[in-house]
Amino acid sequence: MRNLAITKDVQSALTPNSVLQDLLEGNKRFTNGKLEGADNSALVNQTTGGQFPKAVVLSCIDSRVPVETVLDQAIGDIFVARVAGNFENVDILGSLEYSCKAAGSKLVLVLGHQSCGAVKAACDGVELGNITAMLDNIKPAVEKSKDEVEGESNSSNATFVAKTVENNVKLTIDRIREKSEILKEMEDNGEIAIVGGVYSLETGKVEML
Ligand SMILES: [Zn+2]
Repeated sequence: MRNLAITKDVQSALTPNSVLQDLLEGNKRFTNGKLEGADNSALVNQTTGGQFPKAVVLSCIDSRVPVETVLDQAIGDIFVARVAGNFENVDILGSLEYSCKAAGSKLVLVLGHQSCGAVKAACDGVELGNITAMLDNIKPAVEKSKDEVEGESNSSNATFVAKTVENNVKLTIDRIREKSEILKEMEDNGEIAIVGGVYSLETGKVEML
């Protein structure tokens, strides 16, 4: 049972790799049905005055991917930025920069997931209200998949959708490095790592890309 929140000293001693291993171990506890559990009252009390999260996760909004649960993380452990299709924009980049540069997190994890509705909609060229502009962010991944996957280039092709989910994570990471001097420099200096993974709805497992 977790009852001690991360302190500044504990956060300082972490490395990008140790944080990644920590998150993957949490995911293993989730898939094994052995969640650590947390004394939320104790963690709330200890974090009221500040927070020292170890990582920031950029995730989709999907209700089937509750990030803290599937990585078995508690109050004060991780920042989570969520947008349908887990892509970056200026507000998300600012949030990631805040997490790492201002608040000391050691890892950026871009987390896509199987059968992502936003990715499927981008594959199908859906146009509806503000969703149209939102899906433009995922279009580069769709175009990349067209060169890589045989058969239909739409959501009826599960292989095409799966490849586009992966490409969307990879291209998002590329763009984070291109658009954020702060995060690029921190990564080059070994202060953080920027990594990607895909969550399986079937198994609950996060596979790193
Ligand atoms: Zn999704």
